[in-house]
Amino acid sequence: MVFVITGPSGCGKSTLIKRVRRAVGGLEFSVSHTTRPPRPSEKDGVDYHFVSERVFERLAREKRFLEHARVHGNLYGTSRAEVETKGRRGDVILDIDVQGARQVRARVEGAVLIFIMPPVAAELRRRLRARGEDSREAVARRLRNARAEVRAYAEFDYVVVNDDLARAAAELRTVIAAARHRPEAMAAGLKPILRSFAKGRP
Ligand code: ADP
Ligand code: 5GP
Repeated sequence: MVFVITGPSGCGKSTLIKRVRRAVGGLEFSVSHTTRPPRPSEKDGVDYHFVSERVFERLAREKRFLEHARVHGNLYGTSRAEVETKGRRGDVILDIDVQGARQVRARVEGAVLIFIMPPVAAELRRRLRARGEDSREAVARRLRNARAEVRAYAEFDYVVVNDDLARAAAELRTVIAAARHRPEAMAAGLKPILRSFAKGRP
């Protein structure tokens, strides 16, 4: 199954994903490609695959991305190969913007899309500044873009408000557990039970 975590920059997507992956098994993180320069705390291949615009555009031309978009002035994309390889090991979790989430919705049947809502605009600003990894202009741009992004919440399957971190992480775990109990997600595991009801048995 593909889980998409979306919402405005600074709402807490990566923090929540890290927490939930520690608590819930079988969630593989899809490492995106980006042309954004690495932040001091980021590692190539772990947080992102950092590439030049030229490389990114070649990959896009070769249709290597499941989705891609220009976000806050940089290019970001989810590699098809990454999702396929990690999908063999478990469910895959994507941290992507609203434009990318819409593309996944259209292309991946059964994907579960979860919108993370900041508690209030002023807190989003505080978090973006406190993270301390983006310039003043980058923070201002992210806040401007958030105005339209928060209005898109109703397009997604679930919404989690990230006010208290522990509570939001618990809610996200609940949403993931519920999605994993959809009939289509349960189908493979139910096969032996159904077989036991086959004609002639018991
Ligand atoms: P995103 O991945 O959506 O851009 P981050 O996970 O990087 O957001 O979070 C932005 C900043 O807000 C980080 O410094 C993070 O530690 C902080 N943060 C995330 N969730 C909360 C929360 N519930 N309360 C307070 N600070 C938070
Ligand atoms: P940041 O620069 O803060 O890491 O990410 C900026 C925005 O880009 C975030 O909203 C993040 O979810 C989004 N993003 C990260 N990877 C991808 C991706 O592969 N595709 C798309 N469409 N957005 C992404």
